[in-house]
Amino acid sequence: MSGPRYRFAPSPTGFFHVGGARTALWNWALANSQGGTFVLRIEDTDEARNRPEWTQGIIDALAWIGIHSDDPHFEGPYFQSHYAEQHVAAAQRLFEAGHAYYCDMTAADIEARNKAEGTQGYQGWSRDRGLGPGPGHVLRFKVPAGSTVVHDLVRGDVVFDNALIEDFVLLRGNGSPMFLLANVVDDMAMEISHVVRAEEHLPNTPKQQLIWQALGHEPPVWAHVPVLVNEARKKLSKRRDKVALEMYRDEGYLADAMSNYLMTLGWAPKGGVEIQPWQQMQADFRLEDVNHSSAFFDLKKLAAFNGEYIRALSPEEFLEACRPWLFAPDAPFPADRFDEQTFLAMAPVIQPRATTLAEAPGVVDFLFLESPLFTDDALAKASAAPSAIDVLRDTVAAFEALGEWSAETLKTAFEGVAAAHELKPGKAQTPVRVAVTGRTVGPPLFESLQFLGRDETLRRLRVLEGLIG
Ligand code: GLU
Repeated sequence: MSGPRYRFAPSPTGFFHVGGARTALWNWALANSQGGTFVLRIEDTDEARNRPEWTQGIIDALAWIGIHSDDPHFEGPYFQSHYAEQHVAAAQRLFEAGHAYYCDMTAADIEARNKAEGTQGYQGWSRDRGLGPGPGHVLRFKVPAGSTVVHDLVRGDVVFDNALIEDFVLLRGNGSPMFLLANVVDDMAMEISHVVRAEEHLPNTPKQQLIWQALGHEPPVWAHVPVLVNEARKKLSKRRDKVALEMYRDEGYLADAMSNYLMTLGWAPKGGVEIQPWQQMQADFRLEDVNHSSAFFDLKKLAAFNGEYIRALSPEEFLEACRPWLFAPDAPFPADRFDEQTFLAMAPVIQPRATTLAEAPGVVDFLFLESPLFTDDALAKASAAPSAIDVLRDTVAAFEALGEWSAETLKTAFEGVAAAHELKPGKAQTPVRVAVTGRTVGPPLFESLQFLGRDETLRRLRVLEGLIG
């Protein structure tokens, strides 16, 4: 694949951050719409964080939001840990060309020197000492005088005063490469043309650009995308916020809803219509249109997106999407009591109210259980409802007399009962709903009764009558 080369370079952490997912999607959209490539590089040099299942987690999470490793635009995964020799070799070239020098000062030496001289940080003290490699010697980059201008597609030109950038470490005292170096050497080797990544890396960028230039290459096009913040406008944190993409997947957010929502965090599709098919968003997305300010990861809005996507499913698609929850080991009903036709018939009345797929079993469980699961609260509310016992008794009588058993005939019959007790039908419903579903809230009542069937409905109404009578 010719064309621009984008990349996504996560460090494995055991879960996939929603901010990372947004960065990945933007890179993916650009690579696809420009006929380019999306390179996945796992930055796994931190050995404590180097677990194969975490890499698989990244690949699975990407696939879930539509970034498939068998797509022609996808390249990788590459593993940073496999390229340590190249990282060291590049450092060696920088040393030989005079762009880097060795230093044997320990952290304590540096602290003492700063104390003595009233300075801060590392002041290039070993620049002219002519040291070579040796145990405990770090290799430092010789930051040139002047300034470094980072051309950033999101933020414009960002100017850094080199005087404020200390001679940073390229190789540790044990000879292992630092992240800044490894990241650049890999981008160079993988011929990355565009680095689109989180804003938190912007302070690294002048240093990395200096490395690119010292190694004789044009730096890539940079774009630093705004961070995601929570309701309190604080950067999303794994301690405070639900940041793992997998949690949303497990809670029954649809992948399309999730990726659509993530695309709009910091970028607005043309015409202000936020819910859009992927192909359209992919074609329209431009880094130049991305906001500079942080983007609010709004859980309510995400839920609204998910609801829209759930409503757009056919009953059959909805059933397929709900299967993992309907047949989960902790589903409220046994799998062999589940009936597809009943679920499909209920789908059109459940979908308009659903926020996540995980809610589905709890909404329909009464249809597939021998007896509803009464909550104490629901029982208390049913008994406290006005004329509860009389309403239940008269409802049984009215329903028994029905010829046709349908949501409409049930509704009309029930309205008659409510009127006879001078109650609003909505108010009078509570004991009936609790009798049948075990709860005070749930899907539309008369459709529920229609699908539960005559015998079972009447049986349940009598059971509650006995329980609270
Ligand atoms: N591995 C880095 C991270 O996960 C990303 C580095 C980059 O995108 O340049 O934060």
